[in-house]
Amino acid sequence: MAYIVRTKNQSDLMQSTSGGFSTPLAQWFFSKGGSVWTASYDDNWNVVHREFTEDGIEFSKTRGSKYVQSYLGDTYKKILDELKRNQWVCFIGTTCQVYGLKQFLKKDYEKLITVDLVCHGTPSPKLWKKYLDFQTKKYDSKITEINFRNKTYGYHSGTMMLRFENGKKYTGSARVDYMLKSFFSEISSRPSCYSCKFKNVSRVSDYTVFDCWHMGELLGRKDDDKGYTNLLVHTDKGSEILKEISSAYEIFPVNIQKAIGLDGIMVCNSAIPNKNRQYFYANLDEHDLPDHIRKYIKITKKDELLESIKGMAYKMKVIELLRKIKNMKKRG
Ligand SMILES: Cc1cc2nc3c(=O)[nH]c(=O)nc-3n(C[C@H](O)[C@H](O)[C@H](O)COP(=O)(O)OP(=O)(O)OC[C@H]3O[C@@H](n4cnc5c(N)ncnc54)[C@H](O)[C@@H]3O)c2cc1C
Repeated sequence: MAYIVRTKNQSDLMQSTSGGFSTPLAQWFFSKGGSVWTASYDDNWNVVHREFTEDGIEFSKTRGSKYVQSYLGDTYKKILDELKRNQWVCFIGTTCQVYGLKQFLKKDYEKLITVDLVCHGTPSPKLWKKYLDFQTKKYDSKITEINFRNKTYGYHSGTMMLRFENGKKYTGSARVDYMLKSFFSEISSRPSCYSCKFKNVSRVSDYTVFDCWHMGELLGRKDDDKGYTNLLVHTDKGSEILKEISSAYEIFPVNIQKAIGLDGIMVCNSAIPNKNRQYFYANLDEHDLPDHIRKYIKITKKDELLESIKGMAYKMKVIELLRKIKNMKKRG
């Protein structure tokens, strides 16, 4: 079954990348005394998988996609221990991480639920560290908040957003932000991501989630630009739990082929690597981040100009108008 979902909690929605599917699901596990294992940040903003047993400030850091490979550590082992103690466990991660967990566990557990993210690749933590060092130095202050796809300019124009201890704030879209630019240019992911073995509609998980760019076409209603999540449910167990938590979401059944046709290019396909992918990491240490990125990826004057007027264009609804024209052109 395929659905489009969005959490009804507006604050959680705005912190989440798309429709915030993970929060009501996690709350179901917390209510059962269970645990949720997913990607968050450590004290140095490294992306790491951690255990959560309650909602709150710490859990809020799990919301949103982090376009970096997350460090799993002994997550699988600890999950096995909890399952052996007959506890409810939810694991959320990339498709390869979910597959890795299933291989490690060797058998099915009734109280385990897994969610895989449709993913087109994960950049290296080394690049992420270089990016964090660059931003910390530039703003001369500690980072206090990060969101890779902040919705200030709407879901369709998500931007990297960093807040600093000195009160300053940085936003940069994929047009100019060094981390997003390299991610979406397909130059920074792991080599294996470009020939991913898990590109298939059928998955080993209970749920698969991915971005929903075409809710207007899928539901025949106006897109309010706050984001929805495409959700595929693969198992009876997944369906049962979704029924129990469905009142926490706006939820609409959709045609699976149509949803994948419109939004799910990455469900069945790997990204095509940038021709410079093989060189990108070879001399990462030799350059400053801006020089390194600009050596391999073009950031044009036009990109910079568009970025500088984006705030005004958003307020004046120019971006919305341009998107409408683009969609009309696509439909012919
Ligand atoms: C590296 C990466 C690449 C992606 N590529 C695509 C794509 O090409 N096309 C597409 O449609 N969707 C992609 N997604 C999925 C998409 O960004 C959203 O996760 C999805 O739309 C669900 O949004 P949501 O608001 O419901 O998620 P949320 O409710 O915000 O939940 C997101 C969950 O993902 C977990 N997570 C975040 N980052 C990571 C990470 N690095 N590793 C493991 N788990 C993580 C969070 O901890 C959280 O539990 C990607 C996600 C990631 C992390």
